[in-house]
Amino acid sequence: MTTFYPGPSKVYPAVADYAADAVRTGIVSLNHRSAGFMDIVRETMRLLGLKLDIPADYHIAFVSSATECWEIVAQSLTGTGSLHLTHGSFGEKWRDYAYRINPAHTEPDVLCVVQNETSNGTQVSMQKLADYRQMLGGLFAVDAVSSMAGVALDWSLADVWFASVQKCFGLPAGLAVLIYSPDALQRAELLNDRSRYNSLLFMHENFEKFQTPYTPNGLGIYCLMRVLEQVPLIAEVDAQTRQRAVDWYAFFDTDQAGSEFQPLIRPTPGGQVGLPEALRSDTIIAVEGAPDAVSALKKAALSQGITLGSGYGQWKETTFRIANFPAITDDEIAQLRSFLQNRRGH
Ligand SMILES: *Cc1c(COP(=O)(O)O)cnc(C)c1O
Repeated sequence: MTTFYPGPSKVYPAVADYAADAVRTGIVSLNHRSAGFMDIVRETMRLLGLKLDIPADYHIAFVSSATECWEIVAQSLTGTGSLHLTHGSFGEKWRDYAYRINPAHTEPDVLCVVQNETSNGTQVSMQKLADYRQMLGGLFAVDAVSSMAGVALDWSLADVWFASVQKCFGLPAGLAVLIYSPDALQRAELLNDRSRYNSLLFMHENFEKFQTPYTPNGLGIYCLMRVLEQVPLIAEVDAQTRQRAVDWYAFFDTDQAGSEFQPLIRPTPGGQVGLPEALRSDTIIAVEGAPDAVSALKKAALSQGITLGSGYGQWKETTFRIANFPAITDDEIAQLRSFLQNRRGH
């Protein structure tokens, strides 16, 4: 089975061995305050910094999901309210979660942006993030769930970045990486929220000691460490991701021009409008077609052992999505392309 689902997505096959190692060697039974476990946390953080090129003064914490990160930003980093610039369903969901926690948001002191909208295959460029930061000020929190570890991010542009690992990291769900700047920590100290098990200050004090306030997802952290050991530096991953994205868009714009399907985001008249500031994503290729054609295509793909991503939110029926994540191999991409080529005219 080959999956292009954009989350949970394809896991690196070697994760099966890493998980077996974790059980066989007793790592999953280590007390999370033991030296052995703390070494794993420390090494995982070091590898994240090294492989993703994270500034040395940024901090890292491990939590359970990106949704939890949305709440941590709302609870521990938002003073007066948050401003959400949305480009799709995930940005809207984040806003809804934040507003439930902070119903007043007239004078926002946190700016929240989803860098890569998994729902419709759009991304916000680093240049645009820089513009937002300059225009709007405040603490800047970025959801990079479906781009972190797939493309290079300019960490200096925001104070908080997070991603769960079931997208570009190529790992099973249940773990998320939360990265925050010295300014974010300062904001947390100013607000001094300590009322929750996952209050950022509380977590920070624990992670400084390579510990966690609660029993963490040790299996997930260990598998993340092992995956990070084998992935190339982000610059190399980024180049591959971008080239593959160029190839996918060229495939749908040119090779498949005049077919039933075309990229959802296109600059031409009649293209998807209302997303002027967003660009085609490098990691999520959203392709549009008539509902019947989309559903027939997904069914035909399945019969050949290929899972395509469904559409999401308002694009549920009229799009399918192709994850362009690092764990997917060239052979798998070739398999999907040849399936799509052969389908033409059916
Ligand atoms: C998948 C996704 C989420 C949700 O992640 P969870 O780990 O399920 O909480 C949030 N934001 C974006 C952009 C996503 O793609």
